[in-house]
Amino acid sequence: MTPAERLASARLWAAYHYPYMASALFAVRFVSAENVGGVAADEHFRIYVDHAQTSSWTSELLGVEMVHQVGHLLRGHASRAREIGLVGDDLLHWVDSVDAEINDDLSNTHAAPVDSALPVDLGLAPSLFAEEYFVNGERRAGTQRDCGSAAHGDPRQWEEPPPSSDIDGIRKGETDLIRRRVASEILSHEQRHGSSPAGLLRWANSLLNSRVDWRRELGATLRRGVAEISGAVDYSYRRPSRRAGCSPDVVLPSLRHRVPRVSVVCDTSASMNENLLTEALTEIDGLLAASGVRLDAVSVFTCDAEAGPAQLVRSASEITLVGGGGTDLTVGIDAAVQSSPRPDLVVVITDGWTPWPTSTLRTIRVLAVLLGENPPAPPGWVQAVAIKDMASPTVEVETH
Ligand SMILES: [Zn+2]
Repeated sequence: MTPAERLASARLWAAYHYPYMASALFAVRFVSAENVGGVAADEHFRIYVDHAQTSSWTSELLGVEMVHQVGHLLRGHASRAREIGLVGDDLLHWVDSVDAEINDDLSNTHAAPVDSALPVDLGLAPSLFAEEYFVNGERRAGTQRDCGSAAHGDPRQWEEPPPSSDIDGIRKGETDLIRRRVASEILSHEQRHGSSPAGLLRWANSLLNSRVDWRRELGATLRRGVAEISGAVDYSYRRPSRRAGCSPDVVLPSLRHRVPRVSVVCDTSASMNENLLTEALTEIDGLLAASGVRLDAVSVFTCDAEAGPAQLVRSASEITLVGGGGTDLTVGIDAAVQSSPRPDLVVVITDGWTPWPTSTLRTIRVLAVLLGENPPAPPGWVQAVAIKDMASPTVEVETH
């Protein structure tokens, strides 16, 4: 068989054994690459295959690898890695952790991906989240399994640049559509046959019932931002920094007990839902006060196409909404960043239909509070919480 025929036959094997994954499997584009050592994927649904290394593999083994790599893409392992902030040799332990999250959902009636970790290899029970394997799992010695940036978000030397056209790879908006399609296939497969793997079912349920309680999510995100700035970091999902690990008695002074300065940039363009905006502001107001941020340390900037003058307010209800028309929040964010004293955290409330600054704001964290149905996503370095109309039912689900 030619390499192309081997890939086609492996993909058919995968789609036959994992039919609910077919739309993801057939969205994949294969790229022939050397030095991969086997099979890896990037975040754009491209699977890199080292034909020299895999020429003796059966369709089954190659097919299992495809299902495994698609698992990284569906479960958003790259963005979850970025949230954790991997350093140095954390990367291979993270790969083992995300592999363990995937592999316990693979059927044990066929071969497993080569040298890929199972929960038991990390000394833990199955059906946990990758973050749990990462924090609590034992490190495997001598593993070199990489899986590519689909698993950890750090592009490998064999990967192609991000797609500039639909032929090159799948772009962000379509990735989300594929995820939702697979999730609903998993649920209907469960209804018809009752045999969908537990971890995938949980993933599909949480993706499709993503009307999470936004207050809870906003609270958690805002508290985490404030805590990290003031030094009271909750390390439950993070590893202590290497510096702290080397000299445990040394307290890093810049991180201790500083009350963060917060700026709120508020989109006041015509497309904003005023009720949601008021709810969001009230919630942020309360959360900041509860987190120990003095309200006189909060400045609010209103912004449509041009930033209004900074308003210093004592509570959300004092904010005057002005403006209308198009939005360019870069102007408002810029006004917040240039203000004195400089903020540590900028909370941007918007419907998302705006340009964003092109690069990260160095030491300033940015949290986007996105209002309305299906707002476009901000750039990856901006943390985001989506707020939907509470007229819809709220379902509490586990999220990462
Ligand atoms: Zn993997």
